[in-house]
Amino acid sequence: MTNHDVMQMTEDYILGTYQRFPVALESGENATLKDFDGKTYLDFASGIGVCSLGCGNEHWLAAITAQANKLPHVSNLFYTEPAAVVAKTLVERTGMQGVFFSNSGAEANEGAIKLARKYSFDKYGAGRSTIVTLHHSFHGRTITTLAATGQDVFHNYFFPFTEGFVHAEPNDIESVKSACDKSTCAVLMELIQGEGGVLPLDTAFVQAVASFCKENDLLLLIDEVQTGVGRTGTLFCFQQYGIEPDAVTFAKGIAAGLPFGGLLAAKSCASTLSAGTHATTFGGNPICAAGANAVLAELTPDFLRDVTQKGACIRETVSGWNLPVVTSVRGLGLMIGIGVSCSHKQAVGKLVESGLLALTAGADTIRLMPPLTITKGKIDAGLAILKQILSTY
Ligand SMILES: *Cc1c(COP(=O)(O)O)cnc(C)c1O
Repeated sequence: MTNHDVMQMTEDYILGTYQRFPVALESGENATLKDFDGKTYLDFASGIGVCSLGCGNEHWLAAITAQANKLPHVSNLFYTEPAAVVAKTLVERTGMQGVFFSNSGAEANEGAIKLARKYSFDKYGAGRSTIVTLHHSFHGRTITTLAATGQDVFHNYFFPFTEGFVHAEPNDIESVKSACDKSTCAVLMELIQGEGGVLPLDTAFVQAVASFCKENDLLLLIDEVQTGVGRTGTLFCFQQYGIEPDAVTFAKGIAAGLPFGGLLAAKSCASTLSAGTHATTFGGNPICAAGANAVLAELTPDFLRDVTQKGACIRETVSGWNLPVVTSVRGLGLMIGIGVSCSHKQAVGKLVESGLLALTAGADTIRLMPPLTITKGKIDAGLAILKQILSTY
């Protein structure tokens, strides 16, 4: 097939919910992808932070194929080894108490929302169920996680949305406090708002929210679906903020391309979701869990230090160009936002056409999220394309 064939068949048979770039990708090797016409692209998007180990990582491939041969799936009515190992590793490396596995980020957040509401119900009875989230946040596409998402553009068409969410201003502790009342049970937030524009929260604000939650027995829920699993240079981003969340959700990069996610619960609420209160058919699937174990084995302290350095190097390089079109450079590790005064969508379209896959975020931001395994050489090659395109503005 050619690019054209794949694109045509997609347009004919897949519902038109996505506005796609005119590229059909066929294969890849680490951070270099190839389309059906043989053109290559440098990957600064990694499937929106999913392909954390790039394409074709040997250990990952060996782990998932071995598991597929042995046992692809049973159900959560039985015990399996790969999920138990992922859970043990995550718990030991975070200080949390236990894990629930889901298949996606939205489902992970649904689990955290259920956890917070039941925690409060068990302790205080009905009526304490409201969750505070932040403006510019993104928490998923289910009816409930759309309601949690603090962007009005997402609150259309699909009424009625789940009730019990109120939105406060990021980096404004008074706004969070005044959004809370007797009905509040939790605060849910990303530490770097990803879809909202790669907007990092201030440490002082995050710590003030954490203290306020502790004082009022509100659960602190951190959405690390995008920031988690090494993306920001630590296993989880919260580890750089000096806080102890009650629950942390993850998905995207955890299994390096397979659908997998979940929530980590702290001791405070680890027994809340008791038998029969929450479940999913695919969650903890052995093949996905084997992939996650390969990812976690790769994320050594040295590897994570390298992620931090590569990210700092990209941000310094882009800032150093002093291009008039660049208004700011933000982010942590390999989650990078470049604010631009031109159309971010048009700029990313030109980047893709020139062989660099990148993403947009928010209203004016080019987002870079290469595989964590990207080499310095490929970073330089990608930055050369970025500089060339941004210089045309
Ligand atoms: C992507 C994302 C989600 C939703 O994850 P899905 O796997 O698409 O359901 C939720 N929260 C954040 C912060 C995300 O970046």
